[in-house]
Amino acid sequence: MNRRFFFKKVIFSFFGVSIGYSLRDVFSLQQPIVNYNATSPAPSHSKNPLDIEVPFVHSGPGFGRRIAITFDDGPVPHTTEMVLRALESRKIPATFFMLGEHVKVYPSLAREVQAAGHEIGNHTFNHPQLSKLSDAQVEDQIRLTQDLIVDATGTRPVWLRPPYGSFRRSQAHIAYKFKLGVALWNVDTRDWTKPGAQKVMQIIEKETKPGSIILLHDIHKETAQMTGQILDFLLEKEYEFSTISGFVGHPYAPARVPS
Ligand SMILES: [Zn+2]
Repeated sequence: MNRRFFFKKVIFSFFGVSIGYSLRDVFSLQQPIVNYNATSPAPSHSKNPLDIEVPFVHSGPGFGRRIAITFDDGPVPHTTEMVLRALESRKIPATFFMLGEHVKVYPSLAREVQAAGHEIGNHTFNHPQLSKLSDAQVEDQIRLTQDLIVDATGTRPVWLRPPYGSFRRSQAHIAYKFKLGVALWNVDTRDWTKPGAQKVMQIIEKETKPGSIILLHDIHKETAQMTGQILDFLLEKEYEFSTISGFVGHPYAPARVPS
């Protein structure tokens, strides 16, 4: 593919307009959906030979009522299973950003998440602050986790969520190497500080709006126990749920040019 074509592709992707989805689309992650850059793209990096723009996404399209709910740091027995049950009984799709070290120990649980129709993303192998690591170390963290998730589920993640949101724009070329977009969030529930259900609910109530990407952690019992309550609240507010790819599209999907 020559540079000119790539340039056109990138330009067109900026103007990609999101289209409607049904729940079936959301559950079927095979379908590439129009690329949607919710934030300004990362500047090209000199190490990136194709000058491709790597999407850093904090939110999805703000029209309609759609949001994405995400669970980090699993999969682990009990709490991930509780979260799965809460989602399943309400027919809600979510995205799980998994740690390689947990997928390695609980591959069948990763498979279960995948089989339930949720999206799985890469959350590194053992949760380091990527911005402090060398390129080679970042690459190892990502590669190992990609391979473990592929081995466990047969599906290769297309989104990376850096632990703590710690990822430099100058590291974007590494994400590109693995064809990963960078999926961040804009509603931080701080559930990992175990502040109590009431406090988490307050944050969700105050900060969630159409386009929100909500950050939760399925390794915490408190979060697992309140997931049903969170989902019921959001359903009551008539929000609709998408996976990250269902929401913002595949990070490098060919853009459809509006006719
Ligand atoms: Zn994490």
